[in-house]
Amino acid sequence: MTVEAGAADLRRGAVDLAARLPEPVAGLAILAYNYRTSWTGADALFQEVDARRWELCRANPVRFLQEASTSALRRAASIPQFVTRVEAAVAEQDAHLAAGPSSVARPIAFVCAEFGIHRSLRTYAGGLGILAGDILKEASDQGLPLVGVGLLYGQGYFRQRLDHSGWQIEYWTWHDAELHPMALVTDTHGDPLTVTVPIRGIPVTVRIWRLDVGRVPLFLLDADVARNRRVDRWITARLYVADRAARIAQYLLLGRGGIKALRAMGVDPALVHLNEGHAALAPLELAREAVAAGADFESALAAARERTVFTTHTPVAAGNETFSGHEASLLLSDLATDLGLSTGDLLRLGRVHPDDGSEPFGLTQLGIRTSRSTNGVSRRHGIVAREMWHDMLTGNNAVTHVTNGVHLRTWMAREMQRLLDVALGPDWHLHASDPHTWEALNSISDADLWEVRQQLRARLVADVHDRSTIAGLSRGGNAEYLEAAVRTFDDRHLTIGFARRLATYKRLHLLAHNVDRALALLSGGAHPFQIVIAGKAHPRDDAGKRTVQRLFEQRTAPSVAGRVVFLEDYDMGLAATLVAGCDVWVNLPQFPLEASGTSGMKAAVNGSLNLSIRDGWWEEGWTGDNGWGFGGAGTDQGGDVDARDADEVYRILVDEVLPMFYERDSNGIPRRWIAMVRAAIGSVAMGFCAQRMLQDYSRSVYGAATASGRRHRPGRGRRRERR
Ligand SMILES: *Cc1c(COP(=O)(O)O)cnc(C)c1O
Repeated sequence: MTVEAGAADLRRGAVDLAARLPEPVAGLAILAYNYRTSWTGADALFQEVDARRWELCRANPVRFLQEASTSALRRAASIPQFVTRVEAAVAEQDAHLAAGPSSVARPIAFVCAEFGIHRSLRTYAGGLGILAGDILKEASDQGLPLVGVGLLYGQGYFRQRLDHSGWQIEYWTWHDAELHPMALVTDTHGDPLTVTVPIRGIPVTVRIWRLDVGRVPLFLLDADVARNRRVDRWITARLYVADRAARIAQYLLLGRGGIKALRAMGVDPALVHLNEGHAALAPLELAREAVAAGADFESALAAARERTVFTTHTPVAAGNETFSGHEASLLLSDLATDLGLSTGDLLRLGRVHPDDGSEPFGLTQLGIRTSRSTNGVSRRHGIVAREMWHDMLTGNNAVTHVTNGVHLRTWMAREMQRLLDVALGPDWHLHASDPHTWEALNSISDADLWEVRQQLRARLVADVHDRSTIAGLSRGGNAEYLEAAVRTFDDRHLTIGFARRLATYKRLHLLAHNVDRALALLSGGAHPFQIVIAGKAHPRDDAGKRTVQRLFEQRTAPSVAGRVVFLEDYDMGLAATLVAGCDVWVNLPQFPLEASGTSGMKAAVNGSLNLSIRDGWWEEGWTGDNGWGFGGAGTDQGGDVDARDADEVYRILVDEVLPMFYERDSNGIPRRWIAMVRAAIGSVAMGFCAQRMLQDYSRSVYGAATASGRRHRPGRGRRRERR
């Protein structure tokens, strides 16, 4: 383990949990306290104990073991092969954890406002958080000395349902931390370790939870402490609270509190990685330490800068949060005082033009200014970010890019992984960024690949049937109508997915752009297809909610009748089923606002083909034979670009996608389609896996910070050695 703090507390949790299990399967409690089982497949053991309860617990192993019936546990403990497999999984995990990195005093601190680790833990909203989760998982796999730092939101991100008119209703549910694989970090007296951050002159106390993501610890700060005032306990209640003062308070806890927490745990980070501007107060806390130790502010900031790197994640204004001078000065005055600055001087750091008092205080601006490097998340985004921040990029402030990637074992369906295990060898994921790894992809037969594609679609369709029937019934829908409608959604039909946060630039509305044409296509008959839509509109985004409502209203049109479904409450669980089961994954961002996008990568590695605007990652990822790309750089972005892009989607669908999907040989296999599926898996799993991403970060961003402490380095070098 890279850091010991809290490790004993987690172990105690596991030992307590083990005490309620039959002795032969007590090892399940050890497995339960590390999220790693969610990507190694060892979590199948829990499912085998009681599949129904496993699902009820949203695949959260700690809650599952607390709730599983004594009879189910006893039954499992009486099966010798099961006991042997539990023991083997515990031994494998122990060996993996022991293989380093050993205790590293100076890890990289990866600081982010959201982490998407698992569907049972709603501490993420979308792509940013899931990317952060994938980075931790990959760092664990590679043995990179890294620790995550974030906030534990008592209610997490909102959940979504639609009322009978299709209007989005948001609601929140509390996490019960004790039912999750986490533990409070305690001090030498066994009391919860806490740190305090002054907010508007009042010290706010946070406690620290530890979660283990394989070999990488994630520390989440939580202000829901009895000592705090009720209003302050609420600061960490919700991710992306609407109240702006509460937002700044969260960023203070994340940035300042995060660094203080690391100190309290004896960690002196070699490098602080700010994953998006929310974390940008962290380097100022580093500077404050130096000021407290006697340094002047300028040299304190210069030293902090040398230890900080920054990743910006979006060119969209809402994602580059700014605050008025008034808002910011109310909440940042304690920090200014601690830094020996006037509030006005502190605010200067968050402006493109420091002297322009009319400019708001921006977190991205602050991040760029307080970091030694800034990177965007795709080649295109690097270009866009350089233009966007041009006025600040003097001398040693440059913007580069590291294109995002996805953690393959998290996002690739197990059926597909098993196919690769056989064809590529069981270690393929250790060498995923190496082109040689994927040569053996050609040894998988078309029939086997098609068989897996069919299975994945069938699973999605079954899930659609279940979810849409339950949702319809709970909206007071007619049972007979619902039953007939779900039967129209057919597991042999080409299935198109569109699922993402419903931000305006993602242009969900294009799907309904020319409704008559879309309806005519849907009822066309010869080449049937169906569409699954999912996504959450921001609670204050009424335009987004109206788009959802309009699509929802169309569903009862006779020509649609069950062929278009909207699934509520898009999250990591639903995303995994969707990206695996859809045949085509549609993304229609307004160029060039899609910084990267990652859901299309998840789709492609499952053999689901992208049909997307050439923006973000797809501009790099599209090879011409691994999906469909259109629009983007070099195409006319003026006039009614929405209408043109909508037309182009329909054209590609009718002229290319549908004929190819339904062109079958005498064995019923769509050969040309499968060739594309194969190309998509090989190219995207290699070029857009988290392994490649983290190798890029290590080489071009982290630099010397990763040179030590790392024992196991998969990838090119190692692969060559084997040959
Ligand atoms: C991968 C993922 C995202 C990011 O998707 P993009 O549309 O590519 O930005 C968002 N939400 C969930 C639940 C995801 O799994």
